[in-house]
Amino acid sequence: MYIVSGCLAGLCCRYDGGDNADERVMKLVAQGKAIPVCPEQLGGLTTPRPPCEIVNGKVLSNEKADVTGNFMRGAEEALKLAQLAGSKKAILKARSPSCGIGKIYDGTFSGTLIEGDGLFAAMLRKEGFELETE
Ligand code: SF4
Repeated sequence: MYIVSGCLAGLCCRYDGGDNADERVMKLVAQGKAIPVCPEQLGGLTTPRPPCEIVNGKVLSNEKADVTGNFMRGAEEALKLAQLAGSKKAILKARSPSCGIGKIYDGTFSGTLIEGDGLFAAMLRKEGFELETE
């Protein structure tokens, strides 16, 4: 069983109200092999919502609101779902401050990438999940 980013499964949970539908991920869900989650929505954030990036360990919106608590809570809830499903593998949306694996934006909202994981991806990595992006 895979845990997958909701936006990759075609859910309109992205910050701008859109999705990142990926046919391969949608097929896994349709076959009952994957469960879609959106940690940002599970953390109580609205959709649409302001874009956020990680700055010195905190998650800030482009309006400088600190939403670290929402991101942490959502990641914990999404992890709970993954554990309930007995999953140890995840396919997550690249570059997201929640779901990004290995590369995320640098906190300047300029499109610059740095090495690092999103909060949810980091949590799954710590729990020993196998991680891949779309
Ligand atoms: Fe997609 Fe993850 Fe962002 Fe939700 S938090 S919109 S699942 S990348």
